[in-house]
Amino acid sequence: MPQEPKKRHSRARQGKRRAAIKLIVTKTIICPNCQAPIMAHKICKACGFYKGKMIIKKKEKKQEEPKKAE
Ligand SMILES: [Zn+2]
Repeated sequence: MPQEPKKRHSRARQGKRRAAIKLIVTKTIICPNCQAPIMAHKICKACGFYKGKMIIKKKEKKQEEPKKAE
């Protein structure tokens, strides 16, 4: 059987613990290749570039295709 806590923690202690629980806003930068917002130090998901090199080859589709009924 695991040990049980002998005394309850005070509300101040509970508040201090819960004060550290928060959402973190991720830092985003703009991709120098396609100007899409991306996470820093990550491969661009839109074009697959990182540090000026193509890491992931993406299929280019429907980029220069004229739109219908507009
Ligand atoms: Zn990009």
